[in-house]
Amino acid sequence: MRITNVEAVPIRHELEDTFANSQHWYNSREYCLVKIETDRGFVGWGECYGPIAGNREMVEKWIAPWLNGKNPMHVRELHEKIAVRARASYHSFLPATTISGVDMALWDLRGKAESKPIHELLGGKRRSSVTAYATGHYFRDVDNFETLKELFAEEAKGHVEAGFAALKAKIGLDRNTPWGIEEDIELIGAIREAVGDDVRIMADANQAYDRTEAKWVGRRLAEHDVYYFEEPIPVEDIQGYAHLNECLSVPIAAGECWAFIHEFEHVIRNNAVSYIQPDIPSAGGITTVQTIARLANENNIPCIPHIWGSAISIAAGLQIIATIPGRTMIEFDRTPNPLRDDIVANPIDNDGNTVSIPDGPGLGIEVDQDTLNTYRVNKI
Ligand SMILES: [Mg+2]
Repeated sequence: MRITNVEAVPIRHELEDTFANSQHWYNSREYCLVKIETDRGFVGWGECYGPIAGNREMVEKWIAPWLNGKNPMHVRELHEKIAVRARASYHSFLPATTISGVDMALWDLRGKAESKPIHELLGGKRRSSVTAYATGHYFRDVDNFETLKELFAEEAKGHVEAGFAALKAKIGLDRNTPWGIEEDIELIGAIREAVGDDVRIMADANQAYDRTEAKWVGRRLAEHDVYYFEEPIPVEDIQGYAHLNECLSVPIAAGECWAFIHEFEHVIRNNAVSYIQPDIPSAGGITTVQTIARLANENNIPCIPHIWGSAISIAAGLQIIATIPGRTMIEFDRTPNPLRDDIVANPIDNDGNTVSIPDGPGLGIEVDQDTLNTYRVNKI
């Protein structure tokens, strides 16, 4: 079997309501998907994290000409060769997101060719379902803080009514809103009051704080029994992470902005996090994240992949999560997003607390090409 076509498929959805985390206001959701076709009719899909710009050009101009004609069944070898070529050409600007999307499409293709789910190709599944947690509670364009607090509390109740027993909220108001770290704690307090003591609450700062602020916030999050404190400080500050992880009682989580094995090894070796969160369309794809999950397990650190993408990255997340040896969860973004819910014929069934692991071939999803085309971006 030979690869006959490698294509970037950029898709975008303009949001009706903008929202923000500590770093960005979002007006749209967009992804660069990767479609790989073969001379035997099999098609594989992958997803690159981040903006279309860059990923699209890398897939079309740099990866496609090299990958065409290769045997797609040799996924690990192709992944390694692409990474080595990238390192030689792009040095530390290694295009991790692009490599991730291509890796994912190759695994999907191989699964389809062998008529097996990816988790079986990776050694077999350890679970047939996984607990889901609801991601939401973004900052909104409101005039007063009481309104935002009410929105956070109402949203939390909605997740619990939908059956979720764990949820994640954004903090780090200082950079993007008129409010600051004291209000960050008030938001978490409002959620705790709304949902009671039995719901797991996670707080995600998206690298908003310096070390001192993070310590202050972390101590107060512990008073609200927060399950973990995600990305408290910039991800380059591994020593800072190690320090916070040592001195705070709330566990530290991070991983969505790190890529490839050596970065995760460095994090784990420094005891920088208590939960590790590699993102499959960003950290190096299925090949890399499986290794990260094993490495984390060998060091007694639970791996809970970061997932904030289309239906394709959720499907990839489930395939990896199926194989994770220790404690884990699946992140389920609940912001309105048709690129998550509408582009596959069989979207991930989420009953609000657990998600079943698909057993269909490859990623276990069928991309609805007609619907996908309605979101396709021709020009960027
Ligand atoms: Mg995060």
